[in-house]
Amino acid sequence: MVETSNLESLASSIQAVASPFRGYLQDLYEQYKGVMDGAVADYIPELAIAKPESFGICVATVDGQVFEVGDCTSLFTIQSISKAFVYGLALEDHGREYVNSKVSVEPTGEAFNAIVLDEKTNRPYNPMVNAGAIATTDMIKGKGSTERLKRILDMFKRYTGRELDINVPVFLSERATGNRNRAIAYLMLNFDMITNRIDETLDLYFQQCSILVNSRDLAMMAATLANNGVNPITQERAIDGRYVQDVISVMLTCGMYDYSGEWTYRVGIPAKSGVGGGITAVVPGRIGIGTFSPPLDEKGNSVRGIKVCEDLAKDFGLHLFNGAKPDRDLEEWMNGRPADGAW
Ligand code: GLN
Repeated sequence: MVETSNLESLASSIQAVASPFRGYLQDLYEQYKGVMDGAVADYIPELAIAKPESFGICVATVDGQVFEVGDCTSLFTIQSISKAFVYGLALEDHGREYVNSKVSVEPTGEAFNAIVLDEKTNRPYNPMVNAGAIATTDMIKGKGSTERLKRILDMFKRYTGRELDINVPVFLSERATGNRNRAIAYLMLNFDMITNRIDETLDLYFQQCSILVNSRDLAMMAATLANNGVNPITQERAIDGRYVQDVISVMLTCGMYDYSGEWTYRVGIPAKSGVGGGITAVVPGRIGIGTFSPPLDEKGNSVRGIKVCEDLAKDFGLHLFNGAKPDRDLEEWMNGRPADGAW
């Protein structure tokens, strides 16, 4: 079984190398690698050491092809991208009704770490801001911190197809400096939105943010969601198919921090970003995109990552609400036979 999937992956990689789409991605990479705007996150020293020039773009299809250019193997911390996937696990653990009674799905237009709850219901606004993410993490079932963490890591392994580690210095710094998140957690405890095991849950939240991934992992995670929850290469189910649309919906409305409205308007691909420099983006039924480039704009989104997704959406008509036939047909470009022969 393992050998077969390795062979399939090898075969698809070979095909991907020969594809005109690969040339397209290479051009994108060349076009944006010199962009030096933005700044690497520096709220903890471990993030500030990220190399601003690191840049990787990976696209994985629902049938298991992988296209990558640039640095797709360097590891960085997943940070807020974890929130979308842990939300999926909470839905599996408790069902939609319960989860929604504790965490709403309304965009805030505020910064991800805002200390704000819905005035009427006292719920955090959505699972993509820190408040909602901490409440979501609190819901993850398991006997004690070790089992709960293992369930989260096992889930990410199903999405990526490989075992993931935690960057311990990042975790310890997040914990040492995380008083704002602690304040948010206590506010939610006051309103009975989370259970009274704050230290354990915050440790779990800081650990999930400190998981190490590369841009290929982010593309596989997105491709798994695009493939209704089944990893396209291992064929393992990562999330109950019933909850895939819940996760993708909140990515669309809330995934890019307080840039989510403009992102949906300009790009129209459900996505989630993290301050480690990653973006994971899902085109349902078709592809997952993973990008890595540490310099962030003032809202905390990767500057080069935004440009890459914008161009992919525009050039291949991937905006969710685009009804027109795109100039370039994505699948034709991937499979090596663009109709206009334009590569
Ligand atoms: N660990 C960060 C925090 O909780 C998450 C940052 C992010 O990617 N937005 O503040």
